[in-house]
Amino acid sequence: MPPKKDKKEKENKDADKLTRIAIVQADRCRPKKCRHECKKSCPVVKVGKLCVEVSATSKTAFLSEELCIGCGICVKKCPFDAIIVINLPKNLERDTTHRYGPNSFKLHRLPVPRPGQVLGLVGTNGIGKSTALKILAGKLKPNLGRFTAPPDWQEILTYFRGSELQNYFTRILEDNLKAVIKPQYVDHIPKAVNGNVSEVLTARDQRGKVDELCDLLDLKPVLDRNVADLSGGELQRFAIGVVAVQTAEVYMFDEPSSYLDVKQRLQAAQVIRSLLSPTQYVVVVEHDLSVLDYLSDFVCCLYGTPGAYGVVTLPFSVREGINIFLAG
Ligand code: SF4
Ligand code: SF4
Repeated sequence: MPPKKDKKEKENKDADKLTRIAIVQADRCRPKKCRHECKKSCPVVKVGKLCVEVSATSKTAFLSEELCIGCGICVKKCPFDAIIVINLPKNLERDTTHRYGPNSFKLHRLPVPRPGQVLGLVGTNGIGKSTALKILAGKLKPNLGRFTAPPDWQEILTYFRGSELQNYFTRILEDNLKAVIKPQYVDHIPKAVNGNVSEVLTARDQRGKVDELCDLLDLKPVLDRNVADLSGGELQRFAIGVVAVQTAEVYMFDEPSSYLDVKQRLQAAQVIRSLLSPTQYVVVVEHDLSVLDYLSDFVCCLYGTPGAYGVVTLPFSVREGINIFLAG
């Protein structure tokens, strides 16, 4: 057994390597309805430091990640389970790609798409897959964790210097690459789209492929139906069709197999793979591992704590990535 002193030194060293992440879930934190148990119970506040700030007029509590010692008392005391406190390895700190705000979700690292290949993303819900897609589509500027003073694009490109992402973002910015995303929640589509299936697809058709895609996606029987009247599976196939009829350099599909049966999943996968060309990027987020296996050329896994933080792994071969995901 190691002597007690060595053990203590090791523990201190390990603590040094950790950094804290404190999440306050805005939809749960109710400062008007609680007794501010988080603030009252915090041992750091008790010694006079502003580790937790909250008053009756606050929208949510604020936890200082610099002052927090990670004891977890506030997590247990909050009556609404609004707080998550996690100790992270310190080496992740410099790899923060994006943070939405104080005490909110953060994403570490990014998946790296490659032209002419399908990149598959796998991970549980709330782990940052959709955030990664938005960043890669150029629709969300990564703030590198600096939400109070976000960096400009020049700084972001310097940050990614030497990696494949530098070329990717340079192309997104300079060549004005067009990215189209098939959203995760297809049931929201009817609120944003008017008209029948045929009208909407034809209006967006830039590749002259409406007929062929409708055949492949089994959309012919619903061509005259209003988008608002489609079922979940029909909406999914319609949404894939809307992306696939467009000309773009980056195609992204967020969970394309939800609501689809096995045959339809394979048909959707065929449509997605048919979009590949040597200069185009295709990124797919998928839960169905057999579809992911069939669709992807390589895979990045995402791990972390849902709603708190997510970390993107380096790219793996499909089999390797799926095995790593299954192994947790
Ligand atoms: S975190 Fe919990 S205890 Fe603290 S203000 Fe919010 S609801 Fe109240
Ligand atoms: S985890 Fe402990 S130190 Fe950190 S804010 Fe909560 S009570 Fe305070």
